[in-house]
Amino acid sequence: MAVEQTFLMVKPDGVQRGLIGEIVSRFEQKGFKLINAKLIQVPRELAESHYAELSDKPFFGELVDFITSSPVFGMIWEGENVITTARAMMGATNPSAAAPGTIRNDFAISVGMNIIHGSDSPENAKREIDLWFGGETLSYDKAINKWI
Ligand code: ADP
Ligand code: MG
Repeated sequence: MAVEQTFLMVKPDGVQRGLIGEIVSRFEQKGFKLINAKLIQVPRELAESHYAELSDKPFFGELVDFITSSPVFGMIWEGENVITTARAMMGATNPSAAAPGTIRNDFAISVGMNIIHGSDSPENAKREIDLWFGGETLSYDKAINKWI
């Protein structure tokens, strides 16, 4: 069993539309464990480092403007295969291509405002958890049964 940690973020559109609870609820009900979270007004440097891999894309400036425009809700989630499973629950980057039942299909229309970010690999999960939370996670017992 590969217990992993991932960084997820409700973007400004999700926060403003009141979707934090809905999104947290989906990951809770799935059985994953929330091990840190915060509402944060993102400094420009943090947004630029977070999306550094996309710095040569034509939409980079627009993306950083958007992420820094209003608070985001950053979270660290833990569980078996959480990195890949969270990406599946989010759906494709472009909501018009995201499968029904995914967060992006259910709540978004355009690729620029697609509600949620999730780490795409173990390397990026570690990098993003360090970047956003200094690697700090909270430890507690979760009252789940043996089937989850
Ligand atoms: P994902 O968020 O699914 O990992 P990427 O890492 O490729 O997708 O891109 C990061 C974010 O940049 C996307 O979630 C989306 O908000 C934005 N983005 C990606 N492609 C485009 C595009 N063609 N036009 C505008 N924004 C985009
Ligand atoms: Mg990405």
